[in-house]
Amino acid sequence: MADMADERPRGAIRLFRIAGIRISLDFSWFIVFALVLFALSAGYFPRTYPGYDTQTYWLAGFVATLLFFSSVLIHELSHSLMAIRCGIEIPEITLFIFGGVSKLSEEPKDPRTELKISLVGPLSSFALAVVFGLVAKILSGLPILLVAVFHYLSWINVALGVFNLIPGFPLDGGRVLRAIWWWKTGSLTRATKVATDIGKTFSVALMILGALQIFSGMLISGLWLVFIGMFLRGMSERGYEELIIRKSLEGVPLREVMITDVVTVPPSLPLNQLVHDYFLHYTYRGFPVVADHAVLGLVSVTAVRGVSSEDQAKTMVADVMTPLREDLVIAADASLAEALSRMVQEDADRLLVMTEGRMVGMITKTSLLRFVQIKQILET
Ligand SMILES: [Zn+2]
Repeated sequence: MADMADERPRGAIRLFRIAGIRISLDFSWFIVFALVLFALSAGYFPRTYPGYDTQTYWLAGFVATLLFFSSVLIHELSHSLMAIRCGIEIPEITLFIFGGVSKLSEEPKDPRTELKISLVGPLSSFALAVVFGLVAKILSGLPILLVAVFHYLSWINVALGVFNLIPGFPLDGGRVLRAIWWWKTGSLTRATKVATDIGKTFSVALMILGALQIFSGMLISGLWLVFIGMFLRGMSERGYEELIIRKSLEGVPLREVMITDVVTVPPSLPLNQLVHDYFLHYTYRGFPVVADHAVLGLVSVTAVRGVSSEDQAKTMVADVMTPLREDLVIAADASLAEALSRMVQEDADRLLVMTEGRMVGMITKTSLLRFVQIKQILET
């Protein structure tokens, strides 16, 4: 329970790992799964291929939906595997409403790499479309509903490939545009700004189109467009902010920004005192646990959350802390950009800075963010 992973934003569940990549499902995914399943089983299949019983439609709908979402996963995996081939670590893929997001631990190093990583996704969708189309051909002669499932899958993969080629960041097409712009101007920041602005414009257009549809009576497809538009807008904003943050952290040595007067807690401290004398007093979200100058682990505020106030008097810090792991430690000569990449990878909001087994400081997401803000103020 007292895991640093508790610090991650709620709203996604972890499934399994493929090639070292964590596959997670965003909760929005369940809504979309249900919507697609319903639309196929109660709408599209019975309307287009009448004559089967309800159960058969739902079975066909379920198979089609499952394979559709597998196609989305394959699309995302193709990005990730290409990124890994180009030397970029991919800690996680999260499947969202319309497709997925591969969490890159760093930005591609050059436009060529960006182009390769972004193009392989739509290409794999088109390849899947061909494969499903061939399966439909092979199965022709069998019950028409079975063939229809594969026709649908072929068509939906074409749609997926085309949708992702829309030239707005962070969609694949936007990344292609960014790569070309980057290659032409030599500035990743400018290129990201341009691709993001196009992405935002596109997302607003989607929302307006959706609103128009809602007013003209097409409630579901209208809501769908508004939903995707809102989602895209949020993503493109976050993508740009992240880049700006990464840029201003590059080349800055960790030791210049790290906190050196680190407040530590002893392992034998009862939780009620930890809450009162540390969390509420210092208002930090976590503290290193130290005994005899040795770091034993980290205790975060989320670790205390589930413990009732009676139990807090009886439970000690040592019982709920996250034991020290190598991933929570960073060397003092690392850069701030490396620290951020590590925090993203490990879902940690603080790292211990250690030299030769000794803690020399701590770096937190909050302090990184403050550093970026101050730097932005100074530069404008
Ligand atoms: Zn993609």
